[in-house]
Parts: sequence; structure tokens; C-alpha cells
Amino acid sequence: MPMLAADDLRTRADVVVVGSGAGGSMAALELARAGHDVLVVEMGEAHPPERFTQREEEMIPRLFQDSGARTTVDMSVQVVQGKGLGGSTVHNLNLCKRVPDALLDRWADRQRLPDLPARLGEAYDAVEAMLDVTEVTEGQVNRHNALFRQGCRALGLHQGRLRHNRRGCVGSGFCELGCAYDAKQNAAKIVLPAAAALGARMWTRARVDRIDHRFGRVTGVRGVRHDGQGRSHRFRVKARAVVLAASATASTALVLASGLQDRWRQAGAGLHLHPAATVAAVFPEPVEAWRGIPQSIESTELLDPVDPNRRVWLVPVFGHPATAAGMIPGTGAPLMEWLSQYRYLAASSPMLHDHGSGRVGATRDGRPLLHYRLDPSDGRALAQGMAMAARIWLAAGARRVLVPMARPLVVDSLAEADALASIVPRRADPPLAAVHPMGGLRMGGLPRMGACDGFGRYHAARGLWVADGSLMPSSTGGPPQLTIYALGRIVGRSVASQL
Ligand SMILES: Cc1cc2nc3c(=O)[nH]c(=O)nc-3n(C[C@H](O)[C@H](O)[C@H](O)COP(=O)(O)OP(=O)(O)OC[C@H]3O[C@@H](n4cnc5c(N)ncnc54)[C@H](O)[C@@H]3O)c2cc1C
Ligand code: SF4
Repeated sequence: MPMLAADDLRTRADVVVVGSGAGGSMAALELARAGHDVLVVEMGEAHPPERFTQREEEMIPRLFQDSGARTTVDMSVQVVQGKGLGGSTVHNLNLCKRVPDALLDRWADRQRLPDLPARLGEAYDAVEAMLDVTEVTEGQVNRHNALFRQGCRALGLHQGRLRHNRRGCVGSGFCELGCAYDAKQNAAKIVLPAAAALGARMWTRARVDRIDHRFGRVTGVRGVRHDGQGRSHRFRVKARAVVLAASATASTALVLASGLQDRWRQAGAGLHLHPAATVAAVFPEPVEAWRGIPQSIESTELLDPVDPNRRVWLVPVFGHPATAAGMIPGTGAPLMEWLSQYRYLAASSPMLHDHGSGRVGATRDGRPLLHYRLDPSDGRALAQGMAMAARIWLAAGARRVLVPMARPLVVDSLAEADALASIVPRRADPPLAAVHPMGGLRMGGLPRMGACDGFGRYHAARGLWVADGSLMPSSTGGPPQLTIYALGRIVGRSVASQL
């Protein structure tokens, strides 16, 4: 393997895009489409479909930041984020939802972003067409999701089929480990190749650790690039504009580690996680939740975009064996007893549309530190969600429900399920997982309201833009990727028009 050429390590571009996930890929595409010289710098590697082995022990370290072990500083929430060309779109579950109008109107009003709803509307249309977003068909609803729907129907709860960006899906069930069938219409398959066809360059295994700037103007980025053979080299890219798209946690960390905090200390504020608990159930007949598309049915019975009394989204959630073993509490014989019923297990995830928020900090070399405590009102809502999840499974015919607290709770009647609503969550009990971090560099029409304006331009430095989940002014209450792709399009076009 040759050493990296010196030329590779110092280069120029019109625009350097840091990160290649939902936001970065779309921004790069728009910039390349406008004829600009774009370099995408991505810390992870490329993931060709033939390398998706469907094995957890191989794919989790390859696809996820910190091998899937990233947590908040107090270790109360596991925060799962992707790495590699395509970012978190490579392993995500392909659900596509727009932010509801009521929430967009609130953003427009509270954050002084009057044009944002209309701009997002146009961008949603374009992104949905590009990524083939359609409703999951009835034939694609697996038994696990059908049972969840059956429980909702028995209780008279609102439920429905979700929309997704898949084409040619064979229902293998391995979405979270990467699709060996290349059926995901995501950043890696659709958007980045389109950008590359228009001339965008891409570096992989290149981690940015600093944004260069002089006199309030950003001049490029620097970091470390690995050659895949154990050697690493420092690199530097000079650019007229820098677009940060390293995700809701990492972009903020880069801003802070580079000494670019704004005078209102907006950089880092407004971290939302969508923390979720797990409620498992054992059925008398096999569920075989591993077969088919993992998530296709949702219940919005407890969810409203703006009503604080309804802030829980309910969906089935499936874990491959090692992940499931990590979710179920206990060790030794009791754990083995639960795992021996793997074929009969169902699970769902009450996920918070969190009204409370945390803060992103940074290590000296630009890695994120996530400070987040569950707000007490969010905690009460989570307990209601856990109770509702238990009721749904029992109504669908589950023999018993397991709530994986430090002291596991086993429930086998609706009355016991109702009692779960009085649980007071404590730190890491129940264990929470978050797959949708948002905020940190949120949009605000005025610098005191948010670190970036409604086009992703960082208020406190010239030449710096943000095009990822950091921009969200609040949590979205649903899967955010569609909005992030759409924001990437808006930001990419805006940068292109100003160079
Ligand atoms: C298990 C799981 C399932 C999910 N399912 C869904 C779903 O069904 N629907 C949905 O809407 N959302 C889903 N999401 C969330 C969704 O994938 C993300 O919200 C979205 O991809 C975030 O886009 P982004 O552009 O902000 O960041 P990402 O897509 O995470 O991309 C950021 C990229 O930046 C790179 N990077 C980070 N730091 C640096 C650095 N310093 N230098 C260079 N590169 C860097 C990372 O390696 C990464 O590739 C899921 C997430 C997970 C973890
Ligand atoms: S379920 Fe469909 S999209 Fe998911 S990994 Fe299998 S073939 Fe790919």
C-alpha cells in the first residue's frame, strides 16, 4: 500500500464539507450542481454493500461512532451515531417523516424564521422524489409490527403505517447493520454518487479536528487522515467556505474546540436526544421479530408536535441477539432464560419528543461531550409511554411484559401495566438509548436565539455554515433524517449562491 501522496495532505477547494451523512451529502450535491469545487471530508470509511456481513460483532464497530458505545457524560443515555460515507443513513431504519406544520410554525414564530416552513416544503418535495419515499406496503408489515398494530387496535389507539426510502427491499431485517441488498435509497447510494458525478471529491478516514480562522473569517479545516494501513498523516484544506455536517454532536464540538464560541453562548445549547426506553414482551407463539422490515407501524396516540401533555412516540423496536442481550437486564441464568425465548420476544420503544434539553461540550481535539439530564416532566411522560407500551403488548396477546429497569419489572395484567405510569425514572434507570441527537447549533433569526441563521450560516464567523441535525431548534418528535436532508439542500444552495 503506497503512502499517501503529499498532494493529498494539503489541498484547496471552493468549499469543504465536513461529514457525509444526510445533511453533508445533500449540501455537497447542491454545491457541485452549482459548479463549485467541493471536497467532502469524512472520518469513517466507505461501506460497499458487499462488506455488510450481517454480523453484529463486525458491523457495529465499523458503522458506529465509538463502536456504538458513545454515551452522555453521565452515562445515562447511550447515543448511537454512524460513521463512514453516508453517515448515519447507512445503518438507519429508513423511516421518513416531515416535521408537522404546527411545529414548523412554532419554529418560525419563536426562532424568527418566517420563511423556513415554505423553504422546507419545497425541499421536502425534492428530497422525497430523489430518495423514492413511499408508504410501507401492507405486505411489508412483519408479524412483530402487525402484533403491535393489533394491540393498538384492541385499545382503540391511533396507529398507522410509516413511510420509508427503500427500493428492492427483500425484507432481510438487517437494516441496522447495513443493507447487503443495496435497497436503501440513502446518502451513500443516491446522493453522494450524484455529487461525485458532478465532480465532488471525497476523502475518507479523514477526521477534522480544527476549523482554521483569521479575524473572524473561516479559512479551512485541518485534521488527521489514516491510510488504512496503520499510518496517519495530518492534513490541511484551504477553502472559501466550510460547511459543517459532522452531525448534531460533532459539528458543535468542532466549533467549540476551534475557539469559535459566540458571545451569546448559543454554540452547544439546545441538545435534544429523543431518549427512548425499551419495553419487551413474550408471546405464546413465535414472533420472529428478525424477519422483515424492523419498523413499519407507529402509534402517535401519545404524541403531538406542540402539546406538552403528549410527547411520546411509540414504535416496535428489534434487537439482533447481542443487542437484545444488552437490553435485557441481569446476567447468568435469568438472562439466559429471557434470551432462550428470543423467538417469542417483541419489544417497543417509547421515545420522548424531549422538551428538556442538554448541552454539547468538546474535548481539546474536537470530540463531543454530551451533557444531558432527563427533565422531570420528560421523565413523567416517559413513564406514561412505558405503561402504554406494556398495555399494547398485553392487548395483543403477550403472556408477560418485561420492563428492563435496574430491578426488572415483569407485568402480566393491564392493571399492573397502568401502574408503570408512576415509575420515576432515575439516572440510567431505565437505561435509555438515543438515535436522533439534534441541536447544538440551532437556527435562530437573531444571534441571541440560535448559533445559525435560517440558511445554516453561523452567526459568529464569516464563511462558516452548518448543514446537519445541529440546526434543529427543538426536538422533532419523529425520525429527523428527511428534515436533515432537506436542510442540507437549503444550506448547499445558500452557500452556492454566496460564493
Ligand atoms: C440505529 C439508528 C436508526 C435510525 N433510524 C432512522 C430512521 O429510520 N429515520 C430517520 O429519519 N432517522 C433515523 N436515524 C437518525 C438519522 O440517521 C440521523 O438523524 C441522520 O442521519 C443525521 O444526519 P446528519 O447529517 O446530521 O449526521 P450523520 O448522518 O450522522 O453524518 C455525520 C457524518 O459526519 C462524520 N463526522 C463526524 N465527525 C467528523 C469529523 N470530525 N471529521 C470528519 N467527519 C466527521 C461522521 O462519521 C458521519 O459520517 C437513525 C439513527 C440510528 C443511529
Ligand atoms: S430489510 Fe430491506 S432495507 Fe433492510 S437490510 Fe433487508 S433488504 Fe435492506
